[in-house]
Amino acid sequence: MEMSPEEKEKRKQMALSMCTCKSCPTWVEGAEPIAFCNVLIGKNAMITEEKGCICPTCPVFAKMSLTKDYFCTKGSEMEQKGMM
Ligand code: SF4
Ligand code: SF4
Repeated sequence: MEMSPEEKEKRKQMALSMCTCKSCPTWVEGAEPIAFCNVLIGKNAMITEEKGCICPTCPVFAKMSLTKDYFCTKGSEMEQKGMM
């Protein structure tokens, strides 16, 4: 079943509050909003160089059972799975 807009927004806010992207070597100042794994956010054009991804150590990664990485350059989990 498709998630309601309210549920999507709730998950986005949760991811934003726990996201550790700003401690990642790949993140660049100003590339916001973070929580690139989230379906409402996804990749950021300001980030072009992949210098390591710390997503697997982020609490959101475990909580949302994520499987991909480099969400900032490759797109959200859903996008990388070809689900959107
Ligand atoms: S998994 Fe990565 S993109 Fe998603 S909230 Fe955590 S650090 Fe940010
Ligand atoms: S998505 Fe991964 S590579 Fe991109 S800034 Fe966040 S932790 Fe770093």
